[in-house]
Amino acid sequence: MWNGIISKYKDFYDIKDGEAIVSLNEGNTPLIVAENLSKMLGGIKLYLKYEGLNTTGSFKDRGMTMAVSKAVQEGSKAIICASTGNTSASAAAYAAKAGIKCFVLIPNNKIALGKLAQAILYGAVIIPVNGNFDDALRIVREIAEEGKVTLVNSVNPYRLLGQRSGAYEVCDQLEGKVDYLSIPVGNAGNISAYWAGFKDYYKAGKIEQLPTMLGFQAEGAAPIVENRVFEEPETVATAIRIGNPASWDKAVAARDESKGLIDKVTDEEILRAQKLLASKEGIFVEPASAASVAGVIKLYGKGYFQQEDKNVVCVLTGNGLKDPSVVSPDEELKVYSVKIDEIKAIIDKSLGSGQNG
Ligand SMILES: *Cc1c(COP(=O)(O)O)cnc(C)c1O
Repeated sequence: MWNGIISKYKDFYDIKDGEAIVSLNEGNTPLIVAENLSKMLGGIKLYLKYEGLNTTGSFKDRGMTMAVSKAVQEGSKAIICASTGNTSASAAAYAAKAGIKCFVLIPNNKIALGKLAQAILYGAVIIPVNGNFDDALRIVREIAEEGKVTLVNSVNPYRLLGQRSGAYEVCDQLEGKVDYLSIPVGNAGNISAYWAGFKDYYKAGKIEQLPTMLGFQAEGAAPIVENRVFEEPETVATAIRIGNPASWDKAVAARDESKGLIDKVTDEEILRAQKLLASKEGIFVEPASAASVAGVIKLYGKGYFQQEDKNVVCVLTGNGLKDPSVVSPDEELKVYSVKIDEIKAIIDKSLGSGQNG
């Protein structure tokens, strides 16, 4: 039975026998071959690491199992975070499992409804603030310094340790042959964690090559790409709507050490990639997650992938069901009467025109 990432990768985690582990059996997410998109991107083989299938619907669970396990071991009775949504959903769930309190600060009106619903139902104390993510993070960092509550944002070092498991899994699933790893970049913790995870596996002799890291920010929230803080980050991809990433330096190091790049994609490119993933591969992700695929498409268009037969892994960080508000039908949906002839006419028309949409 799968018991979550800490028990699977215990050689890499400093948790001793008998120490309590708070787990929701996170991890073990599928690596799906994107056959149709690979055809579009002739030459490369595209794989999708579908992190939307973690227990709370995003990769944040990988870090949260470590952070909350350590908090409980250290006797903490409460955790706190600032969140664009998925961190709060994950923190709230693991706090519920551990039987401790969870406080979440959310930037007002800027979190997806599904994520808020999760935090509410898991029982977190929700504190909307009239500011952006970066403002909220500053406050929770200060509060956590007083020692009453444990900070579980990705500046908590255990979070990134847990998130390294994403890299371990991808290596296991591809038997070490990961040529490129493409990933959305918000607070920049995950790209840093993946790179550290690949290096762990390399040092342990489990892989013989390190991948090239490809990070993608949204055009309206691209501090690393443009090398400046964005005071008012804006993008449809709320999970990466961050103007001053906490792990900025680590992400730059991951980029440079791997001879990779961090680039930006527009909201239009993000939404187009989201639609392609759903309509060509049957995978529904939230907008931020689609940035990894939008980025690969952009690079492909520029002739970046010179050699054939390279394995490109896109990390699809979160589940599309969390944020359905960004999706609307191409044409307004009309209601038909319940008459078989009318319905048949629609089907025949669609089949006849060769549409599959
Ligand atoms: C948190 C999150 C990101 C960004 O990850 P960082 O570690 O902050 O760079 C991207 N996509 C989704 C769905 C997220 O929840």
